[in-house]
Amino acid sequence: MTDSPTAVRPERRAELAAGLARVRARVADACAAAGRDPDGVTLIAVTKTYPAADVVALAGLGVTDVGENRDQEAAPKAAAVAAAGAAPRWHFIGQLQRNKARSVVRYADVVQSVDSVRLAAALDAAASDVRDRPLDVLVQVSIDGDPARGGALPGGADPQRGLDRVAAAVAGAAGLRLAGLMAVAPLGWEPVRAFARLAEVAARLRADHPGAAALSAGMSGDLESAIAHGATHVRVGSALLGMRPTLG
Ligand SMILES: *Cc1c(COP(=O)(O)O)cnc(C)c1O
Repeated sequence: MTDSPTAVRPERRAELAAGLARVRARVADACAAAGRDPDGVTLIAVTKTYPAADVVALAGLGVTDVGENRDQEAAPKAAAVAAAGAAPRWHFIGQLQRNKARSVVRYADVVQSVDSVRLAAALDAAASDVRDRPLDVLVQVSIDGDPARGGALPGGADPQRGLDRVAAAVAGAAGLRLAGLMAVAPLGWEPVRAFARLAEVAARLRADHPGAAALSAGMSGDLESAIAHGATHVRVGSALLGMRPTLG
């Protein structure tokens, strides 16, 4: 058993359990401060750079959702986790090349990083071929509107990257379901200001797409602000699993 690629050492399990308890307490405190029900916030454990064994251990500790940002890493990890008998929901949260769509739709339950009409079309084609249910999609939105970085542009008229265009493309795709929005607070912005703006964008989107209720915002450093501004999903890596050796 110790040779199994998904076996986890007891010390590591204890470390993960302690990290999970700390993060769950932070989420609970933030929900209490915001007058929100903690059941309304899903913790996504961001397991990038960490092995399949950690995912299996986290699933054993009650984590239901995991996030990954690179297909080359996530595809074999998802296969190893499934082979070990664990079945978390997989969220793809990284920049996605269209030629990876076919791979990602095989294991991802949710893709959170759709930020162009072109990518929505590629995912729709792949999902329609490979899956028997629509793929949940969150449109990634750029909070500062900088077109040089990832994210659809709120209020933008760009036919590829304008948020309304991307959301309409997802909503109109038979293989996809528009579930909501995802964002990362821009570097140099106060999280409170970033997530307040994001909440306005999300409210506008919901007026057009009432089913698009998910708001994925907040990471290890800023989950409290995100919860105060309505996040339904927080994506937590380092506070749960430890500092990553390299930027992932
Ligand atoms: C890595 C990553 C996270 C988690 O970041 P931490 O600071 O380690 O919690 C969240 N969201 C995205 C999109 C990421 O790439």
